[in-house]
Amino acid sequence: MDPLLLEVLACPAEDHAPLTFDDQAQTLTCTSCGRVFPVRDGLPVLLLDEVIQ
Ligand SMILES: [Zn+2]
Repeated sequence: MDPLLLEVLACPAEDHAPLTFDDQAQTLTCTSCGRVFPVRDGLPVLLLDEVIQ
C-alpha cells in the first residue's frame, strides 16, 4: 500500500485514529480501537460494516 495513502487514512470509528497496514494479511488495524479493516485489490475498505474483528 502507498505509504502516503496510509498516512491520510483514519479509522471510521469515533477515534479517527491512524491505521497500521499488515502487508501479509492485507488488513488495516486501528491503533486506537483495534478494529481490523480489509484491503481489497489494494483499496482499503474503511467501513464499520466491513470490520473483520
Ligand atoms: Zn478506531
